[in-house]
Amino acid sequence: MKKHNFSAGPSILPRTVIESTAEAVLDLNGIGLSVMEISHRGKDFQSVMDEAVSLFKELLGVPGDYEVLFMGGGASMQFCMVPYNMLQKKAAYLETGAWAKKAIKEAKYFGQVDIIGSSADKNFSYIPESYEIPADADYFHITTNNTIFGTEILEDIDSPVPLVADMSSDIFSRPVDVSKYGIIYGGAQKNLGPAGVAFVVIRKDILGRVERAIPSMLDYRIHIENGSMFNTPPCLPVYTVRETLKWIRDLGGVKRLQEINHGKAGMLYEVIDNSRIFAGTAEKKSRSVMNVCFVMKEEYKGLEADFLSFAQSLGMVGIKGHRSVGGFRASIYNALPVESVQALIDVIQEFEKAHM
Ligand SMILES: *Cc1c(COP(=O)(O)O)cnc(C)c1O
Repeated sequence: MKKHNFSAGPSILPRTVIESTAEAVLDLNGIGLSVMEISHRGKDFQSVMDEAVSLFKELLGVPGDYEVLFMGGGASMQFCMVPYNMLQKKAAYLETGAWAKKAIKEAKYFGQVDIIGSSADKNFSYIPESYEIPADADYFHITTNNTIFGTEILEDIDSPVPLVADMSSDIFSRPVDVSKYGIIYGGAQKNLGPAGVAFVVIRKDILGRVERAIPSMLDYRIHIENGSMFNTPPCLPVYTVRETLKWIRDLGGVKRLQEINHGKAGMLYEVIDNSRIFAGTAEKKSRSVMNVCFVMKEEYKGLEADFLSFAQSLGMVGIKGHRSVGGFRASIYNALPVESVQALIDVIQEFEKAHM
């Protein structure tokens, strides 16, 4: 049976990307060696890294005074690397979910952290709007897509201080005005590649403002100086990221992906909004285009387990909601085809009919 992969992360990748990675694992460019067994400093891998960086810059529209880095440690290492490099006295954070809370916890090791807006009062079901960014903060940190709670900051914010964004789960889902950000970072394993590599887009002039000594591996400047090769980079994940970026390019770029993504999310939200037994959990104007969270209405709560096994029996994978929200979550990342969204809609509607 065909599987429809709604996993939250690691998550679906384009089939062609998986196939070309599999080929490179066996034999990179016909050189008779695997991408896993060659020097990262040799020309065969260097060109993979160079192309990954240049495609990333081209497709996201990264200005010339920014650098794109690939490194290990995931988005979670960036939770500490950002304040290590940037927090001298105080930083402002928007608390919009579990990942934002983790970022806040790490920043507190380095200095004062002001939570200037939070949606904790309503289980992170919305994006706070009335907050003021302090002009004396070293930076302002946001999580653009809250993977667990299904909310998203859909427009680029204007900030008087360097804006730092965790874009783990919506990178390359829409065009971004990179010039409004100081740092954009994330783990690759939602929209870009396999787990094991993180991306960092950074405006170079915001570095070097803190007084503390920074260990080499945690210092952005060291990674910039060494072109993401200060230590051995995650070669295989970087290879796959390059393949995904080529896939995005061949599809027509980020603007095209945004249209497709809006189409997919619109279809699914419409069905949930018009359902008798299901309801979305996020406020409409804050709803994520990437992670669609929904539950059963109070009077039908007892049917949640039935729906889950019904959906699983028809090939739906990864739709169980995170325990902090309950119900269901359909992650409909870039690589998820519209056919899979339609398949889920059919399952929802069939289940509804059976429970009239
Ligand atoms: C998945 C996720 C993370 C965690 O990424 P790791 O690479 O596992 O550290 C952080 N932030 C957001 C928004 C995520 O979706």
